[in-house]
Amino acid sequence: MSHIQVLDSATVDKIAAGEVVERPCSVAKELLENSIDSNATAITLEIKNGGIDYLRVTDNGSGIERNQVKCAFLRHATSKIKCIEDLLSVTSLGFRGEALSSISAVARVELLTKVKTEIAGTRYVIEGAREMAFEDTGVPNGTTIIVRDLFYNVPARRKFLKTGTTEASYISELMEHMILSHPEISFKYIVNGNVKLQSVGDSNLQHIIYSLYGKSVASLMQPIEYESENLIIRGFIGKPELTRSNHNYEIYFVNRRSVKSSVINKALDEAYKQFLMQHKFPYAILYFSIPSELLDVNVHPTKMEIKFMQEEYLYNTVVKLIRDTLSHKELIPEVSETPGESVKREKAVYEPETIVPEPFEIKRSEIFYKKSEQCENKEIMPDIPVSVPVQETFLSEVSRPKHVFIGQIFDTYLLVQFEDKLYMIDQHAAHEKIRYERLLKYYHLGNMNSQLLNPPLIMTLTISEQDALSKYMDKFVNAGFEIEHFGGNEYAIYSVPTELYGLKESDYFKELLDTLSSEKVNADMESILARIASTSCKGAVKAGKKLSYIEANALIDELLKIENPFNCPHGRPVIIAYSKSELEKKFKRII
Ligand code: ADP
Ligand code: MG
Repeated sequence: MSHIQVLDSATVDKIAAGEVVERPCSVAKELLENSIDSNATAITLEIKNGGIDYLRVTDNGSGIERNQVKCAFLRHATSKIKCIEDLLSVTSLGFRGEALSSISAVARVELLTKVKTEIAGTRYVIEGAREMAFEDTGVPNGTTIIVRDLFYNVPARRKFLKTGTTEASYISELMEHMILSHPEISFKYIVNGNVKLQSVGDSNLQHIIYSLYGKSVASLMQPIEYESENLIIRGFIGKPELTRSNHNYEIYFVNRRSVKSSVINKALDEAYKQFLMQHKFPYAILYFSIPSELLDVNVHPTKMEIKFMQEEYLYNTVVKLIRDTLSHKELIPEVSETPGESVKREKAVYEPETIVPEPFEIKRSEIFYKKSEQCENKEIMPDIPVSVPVQETFLSEVSRPKHVFIGQIFDTYLLVQFEDKLYMIDQHAAHEKIRYERLLKYYHLGNMNSQLLNPPLIMTLTISEQDALSKYMDKFVNAGFEIEHFGGNEYAIYSVPTELYGLKESDYFKELLDTLSSEKVNADMESILARIASTSCKGAVKAGKKLSYIEANALIDELLKIENPFNCPHGRPVIIAYSKSELEKKFKRII
């Protein structure tokens, strides 16, 4: 039998380090968060070979007092909480007191730090948890930590690292999130000697989006804002023509922490569903401010899953806020010279008016100390100018008399000239959307009429479908359905909303119950109806049908009356536009 023995502390530290330090990106995250917690207003991150060989974070924050330096590297040493009760009210990003001890257990670490009140700074070198140097040094106020040769003493872990380029790409994404979550801090990011990203730290989110994602993305983002007693939401959301094929650009922060939340993810999906094609995802950068007593944070060191006490309220608010914002803007995609459904992300370096000095310059400390004093009185949310555009748009009532109806082409598209653009309307998508909104409107006005089914439709439901039905029964009744238990697993549908009459109930009804039974949060009737309506485009005028002048114009009239005429319920565009100048470019009239 093998011996049971107590592991020595170096081994225990290495194991614990694995929890916090998985790869260079986790080191960067911990160190950047420490700098933010130290009230720094300028932070630089420099990496070489993806941070594996070299990773430096320099800040102009509080610094660490000489007699506290060694203590900071002990396990569970933290200045941020004192007892378990403090956990509930913690506002700093870190508080487990594990990062410095873990990092120094698996790398060669050099710390340079100075607090304002001390004359000299401190240099501390610690390699694989062993102290190598502890001495005076001349440094400005703030802290620099250099991490060299990550996992040099844990080959098993080092083996699992990817190439420097891949590791660097993780860090770049982290850096983007850091810049977005702290627009008031000036960040600089240097990769293999080149400055890759730089932010001014002026709290202007528009500047940040411009510098991270480029001009074309920035021009297609619109501000959103919501405020109630327990919830503030601010941010920018992309117009539907700005799409990605993954969720990576749905970025949100709760009380300035980058967190994971299935409710927010679902709300974003739902809000954009009718605006985007399947498998396309939006850009959204959202900042939530929620009182901490309404949050339940499962604090795992690497992933932060957050739960909300008022899930349903949050979900419905996000969905409505985004839908309303998208519906009230002119969202007609313009056809440009370069084909492609979406704007490519292009990085542009936003030229700050003032160059951000490297943290070791004395001048910079003075500038930023002034700024940090100003910052103290500032609200925690970033500055976002909310613009309320008033324009005569193609779809406004006042513009209608100025429309020049050209005709129908391919028995499918209606052509209208307005000002310096040619608009093409997909007749099927347009009619589908009109019917869809009409259904929702009738519901809101309490005008839902029922149509009797004769004979009634008998359906066999699974247990989970039956559960969903009983949970939402009153909502179905409000919408104009009449459903009764028929015995066993069978249910009879006696009537359906008039607007849905003629559609195959057995198709949409089961699908609907299925979606509802997998729903985590309670769905409201609007989204239930939206689902019903979006599965049913049967009644809409087909593509390939010749329309008379009167029919075509009646369709356009109807289109003007609806809330969101830009996308069909499946997310396809209803209208696209060609500008005169674009045509002139094609004919080489202008270059
Ligand atoms: P935690 O952040 O969870 O408290 P860490 O191991 O990351 O634990 O850091 C330990 C302590 O060292 C912190 O609580 C803080 O007091 C101090 N510290 C770390 N980094 C910095 C920094 N950049 N500036 C000032 N103090 C720091
Ligand atoms: Mg920390």
